[in-house]
Amino acid sequence: MDLNQIWQSTLAELELQISRPNFLTWLKKSRLVKKEEDGRIVVGLVNNFAKEWVENKYHKMILETLHSLDETIKKVEYTVLVEQQSPQIKLESKTILNRQTTLPELKVDPETNLHPRYTLNSFVVGSSNELAYAATQSVIKDVGKKYNPLFIYGGTGLGKTHLIQAAGNEIKNLYKNKIKVKYVSSEKFVNDVVWAIRNKRMDDVKSKYRNVDVLIIDDIQFVGGKERSEEEFFHTFNVLYENNKQIIISSDRPPAAIPTLEERLRSRFEGGMIADITYPDYEMRMAIIKTKLQEKNADLPEEICGLVANKIQRNIREIEGILNKIIFYREVKNIELTTKVIEEIIDNIIQQSSKNITASQIIKAVADFYEITLPELTNRSRKKSVVEPRQVVAFLLRDLLDMSYPDIGEKLGKRDHTTAIYSCGKISREISKNQSLNQKIILIKEVIHKG
Ligand code: ADP
Ligand code: MG
Repeated sequence: MDLNQIWQSTLAELELQISRPNFLTWLKKSRLVKKEEDGRIVVGLVNNFAKEWVENKYHKMILETLHSLDETIKKVEYTVLVEQQSPQIKLESKTILNRQTTLPELKVDPETNLHPRYTLNSFVVGSSNELAYAATQSVIKDVGKKYNPLFIYGGTGLGKTHLIQAAGNEIKNLYKNKIKVKYVSSEKFVNDVVWAIRNKRMDDVKSKYRNVDVLIIDDIQFVGGKERSEEEFFHTFNVLYENNKQIIISSDRPPAAIPTLEERLRSRFEGGMIADITYPDYEMRMAIIKTKLQEKNADLPEEICGLVANKIQRNIREIEGILNKIIFYREVKNIELTTKVIEEIIDNIIQQSSKNITASQIIKAVADFYEITLPELTNRSRKKSVVEPRQVVAFLLRDLLDMSYPDIGEKLGKRDHTTAIYSCGKISREISKNQSLNQKIILIKEVIHKG
């Protein structure tokens, strides 16, 4: 058998043992580069992600298969194939590598819970959000004095979290340690209160939220109707308000439209500044696309940006998702970006958001991808090989289904909601700095959406 035949037989064998998407992505375009005198074989893979993945996951399988076909093969090494790629793509793969090593470490600040990626600098202002933006700027300048509370509302993916976190970051940087900021999602707030009641530690929660100068609370609509939490929030609110501390709130709807919200809380909200964020117009969408590309250190032709801006009108998060996917197709899969390809990517994403996905689909896709069994995914094992998949399941249940933390815990084999919160947070922090994890998640999502 010559090298090519050996490799084709090996691939045929591997194809039986590896899930289809994994095989297609990592191994399909691989080949044997050379065999050395000493029995060393060099396998060429399409890119660095593939190399890392195959080395970590399939090395043993590959070595055994090769050895069974040719006993003189003793060792396998991996390399990235370059010669088949066009010069332009070569250059791009180099940029990804550089990016991987030079990305600054972005972490949530444990003190404030703020993520440094949300800045006012990276927030594009246009007619849809200029009121909210101007109000935020006044608050930053005159913390606790001018607009209190500042209440920002608007549909999902329109930038509420970005804006209120940016306000927090700005205040933190501007006033250094003189002003104490804390950001909390209302879900976390509710969880804290529930925990405190159960453990008789209400004082801890009180001091945690009442000892700040700026309290930023995201998605307040979740607090509405949860009596004890609402009660506690109301008291916290009053204490802060009466001491001229700044409160910044976001919600998916105006206070008057949160039916379960208690009257006294609603009227307090209405006493401050209420600003909405609406859908961005075409120019603004283009500006956002350009900003995001710059952040990602990537570039796309003008007409592709236009295509995305035209198609996605009501959700900026979706715009980001599409850009990530387009870049991924170009850099990792080496697919040429024709208008048709782009349209397919976009339609695919639009369809996805209207399609009903189930939790079991997600769990199965993750298990298949990492090639572990369903019981392994949900049992008590702390083996390293199952920790990441489990965290990815938690993240995807949250990301794709908006599932609550207690429900996620339940799905992961009756785990506590705090495990779910930790897992989701861990993965969402990791993907902003770990390209290969990001790629894995994109691939798993593809499988889920096709399923
Ligand atoms: P929401 O909290 O309203 O659901 P997010 O703040 O999470 O929305 O925004 C979704 C994504 O869109 C984030 O990645 C955010 O950075 C981005 N985004 C939203 N609005 C803007 C904007 N005006 N400029 C730049 N990026 C934005
Ligand atoms: Mg949000």
